[in-house]
Amino acid sequence: MDYLPIFMNVKGRPCLVVGGGDVAFRKASVLVDAGATVKAVAPEFSTAFTGQQSIERIVERFRPGHLEGAILVIAATDDGAVNREVSRLARENNIPVNVVDNPDLCTFIMPSILDRSPLMVAFSSGGASPVLARMLRGKLETMIPQGYSRLTAFCARLREPSKAHIADPARRRIFWENVLEGPIAEKVLAGDEAGAEAMLLDRLGSGKPEQTGEVYLVGAGPGDPDLLTFRALRLMQKADVVLYDNLVSKPIVDMARRDAARIFVGKQRDNHTLPQEEINALLVSLAKQGKRVLRLKGGDPFIFGRGGEEIETLAAQGIPFQVVPGITAASGVASYAGIPLTHRDYAQACVFVTGHLKDGSMNLDWGALARPRQTIVFYMGLHGLETLCAKLIEHGLPGSTPAAIVQQGTTQSQRVIKGSLATLPGIAKIEKPQAPTLIIVGGVVSLSEKLAWFHPNKSAEMAS
Ligand code: SAH
Repeated sequence: MDYLPIFMNVKGRPCLVVGGGDVAFRKASVLVDAGATVKAVAPEFSTAFTGQQSIERIVERFRPGHLEGAILVIAATDDGAVNREVSRLARENNIPVNVVDNPDLCTFIMPSILDRSPLMVAFSSGGASPVLARMLRGKLETMIPQGYSRLTAFCARLREPSKAHIADPARRRIFWENVLEGPIAEKVLAGDEAGAEAMLLDRLGSGKPEQTGEVYLVGAGPGDPDLLTFRALRLMQKADVVLYDNLVSKPIVDMARRDAARIFVGKQRDNHTLPQEEINALLVSLAKQGKRVLRLKGGDPFIFGRGGEEIETLAAQGIPFQVVPGITAASGVASYAGIPLTHRDYAQACVFVTGHLKDGSMNLDWGALARPRQTIVFYMGLHGLETLCAKLIEHGLPGSTPAAIVQQGTTQSQRVIKGSLATLPGIAKIEKPQAPTLIIVGGVVSLSEKLAWFHPNKSAEMAS
């Protein structure tokens, strides 16, 4: 170890920053965040300091007297002689000193920090590569969600009750491991602290070990794995069983915990591998076995995803669950196709509609859909394409209204097939787009001409 890592309590203690530029300001702000009483000394200060009342500014050149009483000092001037002088004097007086970007003059160095107070993670490369330390912090940012602040505070609050109930430290450790790995912690992270506390106290009272499983209903986004949310990824890494259907791309299923069991529950058009009721029942029975069940759904679970039906059963059976939103196809696909859904020159509203045929027909409020300055996004609409284009024209939209089919949006197989309400059905017959496809209708579609930026396979894309 080149340095001793410690966390120092500076609350209400005097700290000195020498320097008045932006770097000095950043250092002073960290000290303020940690509760220190901060003085900054410099002949002049950058504007960054102006709004910050908690830093006392001393508009003077540095002199030894400024160090008086300080328990810590940071030098961040662009004058090497001043920095050396600060370092020398501080060391003579046994005051910990840091000189920015000059490890030789430091008696302590500042780590890169991940702040989930009261939880703090500090990274240091011992001065060898601050960039590397920052990059590692970035990686951990995704794994330690903001909610860990609340989780840590929750643990602090319930430490005493847990000690009162479980005297044996070893048993208490196991208890807390179960809490932090199971539904109680998930409840806190999902924002239900009262529910989590009730569950924890109940478990303390009953002395029963962890038994209940839980279900995560997670939106996996439209296809590109990069569009997963942090929370989706974290729960995917935690699950014991994964239930997925064919809208979830393989690279995404592969990102679930390696030893998690994977169950394909199907859903191809007209070929439901498992009927919805059986999926609902399976979620319940797996959770009752104590498993952490991940139900992965394409896009967002609450947008044409039947997510509501799946959790109704769970709620009825008292099984803990949480729902993680995903980027719905309309949003993801439109972005990747360069179609701003509500560009204000063309649209003031955007509607998401299911174009799923029931008994060969589409029972939609065509009058409400065929409005000017409105973008319409059809999910599951390809089989009814001809009907929907004809109906929109019949109800008043011009045949020249731009319309597009986006195939497998956001993936390497994305194709954007463009036409108008009058021409698109004919074009689709020739182009034969592959599922899943989204149909977008409205003036905004014409913008993709200049705004398309994602070109997975140039030869596959066609414009007409
Ligand atoms: N819950 C999902 C939608 C499920 S309905 C969501 O929020 O996106 C299934 C329909 O979504 C498909 O028929 C298709 O219309 C659309 N869809 C899903 N992913 C798509 C993609 N990558 N590209 C184009 N359309 C997609």
